[in-house]
Amino acid sequence: MNGVISLSEQQFKIIQATAEAAYPAECCGLLAGNILAENHIVKRVIPSPNIVADQAKDRFEIDPQIHINLELELRGSLDQIIGHYHSHPDHPPVPSETDLKMAYGPILIWLIAAVDKGKFVDLKAHQINETKQHFEEIALRITPA
Ligand SMILES: [Zn+2]
Repeated sequence: MNGVISLSEQQFKIIQATAEAAYPAECCGLLAGNILAENHIVKRVIPSPNIVADQAKDRFEIDPQIHINLELELRGSLDQIIGHYHSHPDHPPVPSETDLKMAYGPILIWLIAAVDKGKFVDLKAHQINETKQHFEEIALRITPA
């Protein structure tokens, strides 16, 4: 029962650019959109400052105010927060031990961008399995903007 996440080319470029701009720190942000069957469709990418400034090389934390504002904004609409993204400076785009510890709540999709020496290299999507014991990679589809 693996899902798919669809991202427009333009949204992909936002993540790529913010991941490179944040280097050597991790970037982060939220993904708003909707879920049709197993297909997660991203409608908007909302970049956030990484608020763990002193540990930003291998940690990230989305600004809670941005999260709250987005939830308020989406209230009553068909869209919801379907996931978030962050980058791994000089590490592969696979969830770390820390990521697994942070995997709580209803946020479903984790996009991880790998940045090598300041250059974006790859973006992968992961989903927590039902028992929250591990991440599973899911398909990432880039659609024309
Ligand atoms: Zn991570």
